[in-house]
Amino acid sequence: MDISTDQADLLKASRDTSLFQVMPQEIAYPKNVEEMSELVKSTKTSITARAAGTDMSGGPLNSGTIISFTKYMNKVLEVLPAQAGGFDGYAITEPGVFYRDFEKATLAKGLILPSYPASRELCAMGGIVSNNSGGERTLEYGKTEKYIEELEVVLSDGTITTFKALSPSELAMKKVKNDLEGEIYRQVDEMLTENATLIEAHRPKVSKNSAGYYLWNIKDPEKNTFNLAKLICGSQGTLALWSKAKLGLVKPKEHRAMLVVFLHDLEKLPTIVSRVLPFGPESFESYDDHTFELAVRFLPQMLSQMGFAKAARLGIDFLPEAELVLTGGVPKLILMAEFAEDTIEEADKKALAAQAALADLGLKTKIEKNERESEKYWIVRRESFALLRKNLRGMYASPFIDDFVVPPSTYTQFLPELNKLLDQYKDKMIYTVAGHIGNGNFHIIPLMDLSKPESKQVVLELAPKVYELVIKYGGTTTGEHNDGIIRTPYLPMLFGPQMMALFEATKKVFDPKNIFNPGKKVGGTFADISAKMVATN
Ligand SMILES: Cc1cc2nc3c(=O)[nH]c(=O)nc-3n(C[C@H](O)[C@H](O)[C@H](O)COP(=O)(O)OP(=O)(O)OC[C@H]3O[C@@H](n4cnc5c(N)ncnc54)[C@H](O)[C@@H]3O)c2cc1C
Repeated sequence: MDISTDQADLLKASRDTSLFQVMPQEIAYPKNVEEMSELVKSTKTSITARAAGTDMSGGPLNSGTIISFTKYMNKVLEVLPAQAGGFDGYAITEPGVFYRDFEKATLAKGLILPSYPASRELCAMGGIVSNNSGGERTLEYGKTEKYIEELEVVLSDGTITTFKALSPSELAMKKVKNDLEGEIYRQVDEMLTENATLIEAHRPKVSKNSAGYYLWNIKDPEKNTFNLAKLICGSQGTLALWSKAKLGLVKPKEHRAMLVVFLHDLEKLPTIVSRVLPFGPESFESYDDHTFELAVRFLPQMLSQMGFAKAARLGIDFLPEAELVLTGGVPKLILMAEFAEDTIEEADKKALAAQAALADLGLKTKIEKNERESEKYWIVRRESFALLRKNLRGMYASPFIDDFVVPPSTYTQFLPELNKLLDQYKDKMIYTVAGHIGNGNFHIIPLMDLSKPESKQVVLELAPKVYELVIKYGGTTTGEHNDGIIRTPYLPMLFGPQMMALFEATKKVFDPKNIFNPGKKVGGTFADISAKMVATN
């Protein structure tokens, strides 16, 4: 196994895309699961996993050893066909495979993992599984947790084992084992049985959640199985390191049509969402007036990154939007409901039916009849974060209220309260609001000058206010990006003391010496947020 203490490598591993910087002692690059196990057995410090390092929460940052997978453990090992009663196919992958390469391998068989995140060109499978990522197609297809079948893992004593769905008799056999694995099965099963009501009551009420340990996912009552891989998913490398995953895949639909709604009056938002969702959009996304104005302002820069022909075509396509800005008619939100079907006629039919369902609301709407027509909306939606980051010098993209979720039925009350809060800080940060409107999942990533102490104060002051509001409306602090350094301290507020005690007990049984990614999920403090924030831009 290669080990590096080279300053440039350490510096790179000290950052992800969060607000934080933590210098590690060394970086280990294992070639296989046996080397991972050796490292765990011999460690005198902590071990924190890193795949592509695009995490926004500080998840892959820590002070001990960083175990990095993209150098060697970067192969899709197999793409397998459908199994009766299961997914359309399966992939066996290592954690260091970039999603873009993973998708090439699965698309060669006409299949995809539909929970891919917006960072699909940058991130790797290690983070997709360990953050329980979701993205634009999660509305229809769910998050990564749904596609986890099996995980080969290294436990905190170096044991190599595979977590997968076990029948009651297979579980009983695991529970009699006289080792750490047996102890984990005994204690987790007992915890789930004794606290079944408490755990069920704390199952998130929103359709996306990446916060906490997913104790509610382990038992499948319909199939009568017990699968610890479902707990490792989303646990940010705090319980075990995974070395090989079997993931379910689906056959994507071929054709798409989009209903675009230009919304001036937020009061109508819950009605729109409740009327559009029954038509089954594959994705239902949104971006706000700030994003829209920035996109028009930076249109030349955005177009210059594309080839000439595409830029020329998109430039013309954007003309009506530019006119909207010039004439002051910018909508408060732009909503994009995309319908996917096997034929273009079916997709158009659905988009038109959804449009008709909104006819009496007096809205400006538009149908984009194919993917070429809807491309410009996707570019603004996908590129808004990058646009901000690249074009405003001295300002730093600061994810700290970047990923909360509220039930869509609460938009009328929630959004004005949120806007009131954000308005109080508008002279201290530039921000855009984009999100998965169908799931109630919002991304707000302000741009701030973090060399100013008052900017850090905003992070410490505004985040608790936003999360308090989110929790008041029955939401969760993170739908996709996970807890990391930035949100671990809010878990007690979100789940309460009894569930926190179960999370702590879970961590203790898997990792009694606290070697895996300490300070994430349990044990993280508000002092960590202040201390680990980057010092300068
Ligand atoms: C522009 C942008 C857009 C984004 N959009 C989305 C989005 O739409 N949805 C979304 O979910 N996220 C999004 N993210 C966040 C991030 O890109 C994703 O969560 C991504 O899946 C992380 O993958 P990664 O390979 O970079 O993981 P890393 O950052 O390397 O790691 C993420 C976490 O996984 C753990 N980990 C990695 N490998 C292993 C392993 N083998 N065993 C145990 N633990 C492991 C790490 O310790 C860390 O806690 C976005 C980020 C950016 C910069």
